[in-house]
Amino acid sequence: MYLVPLIERKRDGGRLTPAEWQEVVAGYAAHLVPDYQMAALLMAIVLRGVDADELFALTEAMLRSGASLEWGSDAPPRVDKHSTGGVGDKVTLVLAPLLASAGALVPAMAGRALGHTGGTVDKLEAIPGFRTVLSVREVREQVERIGCAIFAQSPEIAPADRKLYALRDATGTVASVPLIAASIMSKKLAEGLSGLVLDVKHGEGAFLPERADAIRLARTMIELGRRHGCPTVAVLTAMDRPLGHACGNALEVREAIAALKGEGPPDLMEIVWALGTEMALLAGLARERPAARRLLQRAVSDGAAFERWRCLVEAQGGDPRVVDDPDLLPRAPVARVWRAARSGFVAAVHARSIGRIVVELGGGRRRMDEPIDPGVGVVLRVKPGDRVERGDELAVVHARRSDDAAMAEDRLVEAITIDDAPPPPSLELIGGLVA
Ligand code: URA
Repeated sequence: MYLVPLIERKRDGGRLTPAEWQEVVAGYAAHLVPDYQMAALLMAIVLRGVDADELFALTEAMLRSGASLEWGSDAPPRVDKHSTGGVGDKVTLVLAPLLASAGALVPAMAGRALGHTGGTVDKLEAIPGFRTVLSVREVREQVERIGCAIFAQSPEIAPADRKLYALRDATGTVASVPLIAASIMSKKLAEGLSGLVLDVKHGEGAFLPERADAIRLARTMIELGRRHGCPTVAVLTAMDRPLGHACGNALEVREAIAALKGEGPPDLMEIVWALGTEMALLAGLARERPAARRLLQRAVSDGAAFERWRCLVEAQGGDPRVVDDPDLLPRAPVARVWRAARSGFVAAVHARSIGRIVVELGGGRRRMDEPIDPGVGVVLRVKPGDRVERGDELAVVHARRSDDAAMAEDRLVEAITIDDAPPPPSLELIGGLVA
């Protein structure tokens, strides 16, 4: 196919028709469009933008490039959530079994770590034997059987996005609200959902740090969901600090298990309840927020959510002994306590810096093909605003080697800062609902 006139039109601020978007995306997925032409079109989109109709056509074409999950007309409501990424974000591990135990179906497609942010798929793969690569048929069968599955994007789902994402990564065209929105929504809408909750992060550890950009992304994705017929809501949450205490794959699985037992840290649980409430409302499990929240809290306190987690681990081939004994998860051999050099108040725990330390320890990746060390990471003992005395524990570094631990300790000097006065009231933890 001959793309040059379309590239030129977009370059000059013109628009492409839905049929043209379909042809471009299908042609690229079928290797009929060369990378250099697609890269030129992507850059024209970054610089010139697309209007709402174009973006919808692009997203739907990406969605149609692969398979979708099909559900019978009498299937229970399907809901999922998507986080735009952060540090210490283990919320999907908690919400998928929790919502399933409350009566929804949760086909949760998840991502891998990239940059300073972690990935749910890598966290789950810290459980020995846990299989995240499932076919579309396996996902459907498992979700129908136990109510949930957490799986990696397979080549079957939105293959155009996989190819486009790799190209964007190599051509400086990732940071674009419409391209991010199309990429996320083309995958999520392939799950055949009745409702979607977006956890849109902002703050220094987020993909888009500026709150205004996060709101723009949220509104753009909500509109794509609406036009597709999938009710979508977004919750803005702060990612200026890591979520919960644990940052690093096996360490986060441990914390998620604690959360499913009702023993999660308050900031993590607040996000679990906030997102879970919206999912429960979209699934029709409750009519009002307080009732939805109570329903979820009961599913944790009576053990139903934890039992569903056990089913999930077993169904996906994970070692079931880990469920009752998280000490069986991979562990790094070196554990070093990092202590406060002075008394005062914790001024900041910088999410991006902590995320980078985890990557340097081997718990994340700089390139998509890098292996992950599941046992390493940082467990934080403090949150911004906490009063500390000299010598108090601020964090524990889990490393493969002493040299790595020393590197992490050097970085922690800047990552956790202490001041004489408490910081101003924290950035909003849960922002307004953008619905
Ligand atoms: N996550 C995605 O899935 N796609 C993007 O473009 C950015 C983040």
